[in-house]
Amino acid sequence: MFKECSLNDLSKMDISETEIKNDKLHEECGVFGIYSPSGGEVSKDVYYGLIALQHRGQEACGIAVSDTSGEKGNLKLKKDMGLVSEVFHKEDFSNLKGNIGVGHVRYSTTGGSVVENAQPIAMNYIKGSLALVHNGNIVNANELKEKQMYRGLAHYTTTDSEVLAYEIIGDRVNSGSIEEAIKKSASKLKGGFAVVVMSPRKLVGIRDPFGIKPLVLGVKNNFVDGKGEQGSLFDNEKFDKHNTYILASESSAIRAVGGKVIRDIKPGEIISITSKGITSDYDLCQEKKAHCIFEYIYFARNDSVMDGIAIHTAREMAGRALARKSKVDADIVVGVPESGIPAAMGYSKEANIPYVQAFYKNSYIGRSFIKPTDEERRDAVHMKLSVLEDEVKDKNIVIIDDSIVRGTTMKQLIIMLKQAGAKAVHVRISSPPFLYPCYYGTDVPTSKQLIASKHSNEDVRKNIGADSLEYLSIEDFKYMVGDLQICKACFNNDYPV
Ligand code: AMP
Repeated sequence: MFKECSLNDLSKMDISETEIKNDKLHEECGVFGIYSPSGGEVSKDVYYGLIALQHRGQEACGIAVSDTSGEKGNLKLKKDMGLVSEVFHKEDFSNLKGNIGVGHVRYSTTGGSVVENAQPIAMNYIKGSLALVHNGNIVNANELKEKQMYRGLAHYTTTDSEVLAYEIIGDRVNSGSIEEAIKKSASKLKGGFAVVVMSPRKLVGIRDPFGIKPLVLGVKNNFVDGKGEQGSLFDNEKFDKHNTYILASESSAIRAVGGKVIRDIKPGEIISITSKGITSDYDLCQEKKAHCIFEYIYFARNDSVMDGIAIHTAREMAGRALARKSKVDADIVVGVPESGIPAAMGYSKEANIPYVQAFYKNSYIGRSFIKPTDEERRDAVHMKLSVLEDEVKDKNIVIIDDSIVRGTTMKQLIIMLKQAGAKAVHVRISSPPFLYPCYYGTDVPTSKQLIASKHSNEDVRKNIGADSLEYLSIEDFKYMVGDLQICKACFNNDYPV
């Protein structure tokens, strides 16, 4: 279904009640925001930024843009189900004109797979228009939503992001500035969130006080077209209104649009980009941090740098630690594309066993993980990955993946490797056994479906058909992220919020 919405249309959408009731407040997404104070069109950069963030959400996407020199509330929005390249077409950019914009890619549990839940969440209110994009999960959203409902507010989506938008609007009506309103609203939230808000004249970003979800600030030189100037402007990080400023979930998205990373937004920091400069408010910052370890294990792109840690290196270090802890006498090391590959390379280097590409990945197939039934997930693994038989025949293999959740992927890959003639398949996982659900926005099934939480290591080994199975230990995270304070609740049940 295709729906291009004007703001007024949003309230008229035909939303199936059952879909909404079955849906959970559950998000796992990528956000992008961009502002070019001196003018120019930003929607193409939002598009390319979202393409770079596609791995963070493949279910729905959207772009909202506005013109800061125009009427307050001249916001244009398009959002729909599907990949960024499916939803947006050339002709859309002539409608999405503006020098400030936000974009979103969404990945939720199956129940929430409805277009109404796509973002940006856009609203018109007394002070103009507002568009908001959000990655994370607000644990107390239901509580806030109930209060809003008693105040007579109608909700058109089942997302916690809409709850947050209403909070901000409510606080803005009584506050001096949008930054104050965002700060006030954020102080009521529990959970993990990285949010970018586009208001009529400002782009504002905020990260939860624990830094669970990532957010990075970048700059793009408007003259970066290979015609000089680039060096001098890029070396000068002072605010220049002729530059374009970007907020994104990952550094790879900033680089994808020809920008340069300035720095990570600090946990609890509110950053505001206006035509006069960039201001920062640290009032919500606190000492304790809890960066999501799963970003480093699986979620982020291999080429991103997050809170000072290069993702590829962190994964390679995990692989090296795994090799030191549980080396196998094998002929080859293979990795499960994509996030298992750096760990496999690390394992190979540390154990001095050759790394071999064992799988061909069909990049045109979406995620197998998101499929609703076991059977569909199993079929999706076969569609996505096929074995390079010559490489694995008669070999003793160590296979590395970043995680085992339900066990579907590894079980199917072992069947495929053995069918291709592998003699033995030893499984090494570059994270600890996954035991507890995540409440902050990483899509993890209930503990019941987490294979390691219900079965012993030996039972899991038998179930997936491995010749041996070992995991990284929680202590080994230090090799991945040094002394960065992390949330590892999915492994040790210790939730920061
Ligand atoms: P499973 O097949 O259920 O054991 O899931 C493990 C596979 O899914 C691994 O290859 C991971 O790279 C990937 N994976 C792990 N966690 C997630 C997640 N939260 N969302 C999507 N994919 C995931």
